Amino acid sequence: MQVRTYIPVTGISNISGTTSLQVGQTRQLTAHVTPTNASDRRITWTVTSGNAVTVNRNTGMITGVRTGTSTVRATSVCRPNIWREVRITVVNPPPPPPPRQGGAGTPGGLLWKGASIMPIPPTHVRAPGQTHGNIFRGILNRESSLTHSFITRASWGANSSQSGNWIEVRTKHSIVLHHTGRTNTATAIDRLHANNDWGGIGYHFLIGRNGNVYEGRPLDFVGVHTAGHNTGYIGIALAGDFEPRWQNGWFFAQEPTTAQITSLRELVGLLQRHYGIGNHRIFKHSDLNNTSCPGSRFPSFQMLGFR
Ligand SMILES: [Zn+2]
Repeated sequence: MQVRTYIPVTGISNISGTTSLQVGQTRQLTAHVTPTNASDRRITWTVTSGNAVTVNRNTGMITGVRTGTSTVRATSVCRPNIWREVRITVVNPPPPPPPRQGGAGTPGGLLWKGASIMPIPPTHVRAPGQTHGNIFRGILNRESSLTHSFITRASWGANSSQSGNWIEVRTKHSIVLHHTGRTNTATAIDRLHANNDWGGIGYHFLIGRNGNVYEGRPLDFVGVHTAGHNTGYIGIALAGDFEPRWQNGWFFAQEPTTAQITSLRELVGLLQRHYGIGNHRIFKHSDLNNTSCPGSRFPSFQMLGFR
């Protein structure tokens, strides 16, 4: 007769699977229980710090939910004082490859500070003085409507004198969100960015405090708003300064208005549908550059419904 002896767990030697993954990815973690012939090898999985991942309590399957780090613990079911932890880092998915690679000619005189410029065929550069259509109005009419007003460049009096230097690249794969800081009207930003030789207002859209959506750089052209991430990236700025700070003895703190949030959600939603942009391709400026923009009081993507 064979006697079955109960063999207790003595340790968890290692957790394998991964230590990093991207937002939206899932990975299987495996705990290596010793001895390998222990009678009860079951494990309970929990997240003990951070909110970057979730874990299935029974299976050890982790899912990246936002960028950051989390600690995941594997605990022996039969001996809960035996556990081991692993640090998991969650990163944003890498940007897709640039939309187009250039032909022979690279247009001259187009080097904006901060712009990510790539060679594109000369046929995609509009001749100076040539007018652009109202691209966004077309999208609006076809696909949706906005609660607040859409105000075209012509309506707010944009200065198009530098438009001859705009680069036409119609592909859009990402959206970057900004706040304006203290310069927060379309006209003032247009002047500021023109003085930088950026071709006038570099955001594709500005959302005013009243929720009105101002047309900035027309959508078919490369914006100038995020260093190294302009080609293919739609720039949307909310008027206001959402990074609180002390100034001259006063605590200055501003948040987006309800009207701005409404317009942001609507605008992002219809751009996503039109260009096929997934939630994981919506960024804060601070995700891509070393900046506080759009400020710590900018609402979370969870609250906005972008995650
Ligand atoms: Zn910004």
